[in-house]
Amino acid sequence: MTFEYLREDLKSLKPYEADQENCTLKLNANESPYPIPLEIRAQLATELLNGNDYQLYPDSNADSLRDALAKKLNVERDNILIGNGSDELINIVTTAFANPGDKVLCPSPGFSMVNYYTRLAGAIPIEYHLNERLQYSLSVIEQAIITHRPKILHICTPNNPAGSTMSVSDIASIAQWFDGVVVVDEAYYEFYGESMLQMIDKYPNIVILRTFSKAMGMAGLRVGYLICSKTLASEIYLVKPPYNVNSFSQRAAELLLEHPEIREKRVKEIVKSREWLFQALNGLRGVEPYPSQANFILAKVKNSSAVFRGLMEKGILVRHFGENPILKNHIRITVGRAEDNKYILQCLAEILSEMEGW
Ligand code: PMP
Repeated sequence: MTFEYLREDLKSLKPYEADQENCTLKLNANESPYPIPLEIRAQLATELLNGNDYQLYPDSNADSLRDALAKKLNVERDNILIGNGSDELINIVTTAFANPGDKVLCPSPGFSMVNYYTRLAGAIPIEYHLNERLQYSLSVIEQAIITHRPKILHICTPNNPAGSTMSVSDIASIAQWFDGVVVVDEAYYEFYGESMLQMIDKYPNIVILRTFSKAMGMAGLRVGYLICSKTLASEIYLVKPPYNVNSFSQRAAELLLEHPEIREKRVKEIVKSREWLFQALNGLRGVEPYPSQANFILAKVKNSSAVFRGLMEKGILVRHFGENPILKNHIRITVGRAEDNKYILQCLAEILSEMEGW
């Protein structure tokens, strides 16, 4: 392949590879095991059949959805911006604040798109490391800020892929003296419960990212949102593409917000399943799970490629991390329904005992 036109600085960029292999149990992308509730699908279908405005562009700023969110979160419409998944918001925020050549601090291990969008903006991703138990260290981050003087600091809590968290007081203590933007990715907030939301007035340099893809079970419809001070939001708005979220997805998200009881019940189930799966994995010889506050569990295993292939042969897709030096012998399992967890556990036990006999 020749790169005649591609920007010089992007030639070594690796595209995000979403594993789309065929499987019967998909546990690789931290999606919800539950479909969108029937009553919401019925409502959407009725609206679709009884006329809609799809010949018109969507509401560019998703005002109706922002109002619904503002009410739920006890903030104002102008504290919120809606994205085509929170993935798009990472791109928008990075483009808004990182000049070419600026440094951006990213957790390692962490969500790879953060580094990716930093490079797209022509900025420089600098990784700061979680400790050997894959937990955040306040002093490591403070030191990295002093050394690198970044424009943006990314914190993901609960962290993907580790499931570990950083406390509100630790993040606030950084936001207080750091003169850049602190992006706090709360994609898995609902499975954890602690948020920086109460801090956005006190620390106008904090941007919180949330998504409808995980606990809300709407990954295929691509809706994310950010919450921050109005001043920062008005700056970020300059970069948001018009009409970035389609009308159908805006409406689906709004309807989901009207049914908090369904979401809460499902989140409770997942959290219960997570605790069961953690204990069960902990009881398997050769598997070391990390405690997680999200809807997935990262586990160290002896030969992750063989385990990944063995699970694939049984129809289960989990996340593996190739040759990533920190995550080489790890797999990440999305927490499913109770029966999914029992099935993966049984398969894992079989694969590991076969491997012992090698
Ligand atoms: N942040 C984190 C930490 C994630 O794990 C993901 C998805 N895996 C995203 C953001 C993006 O989610 P979405 O674009 O579906 O909102």
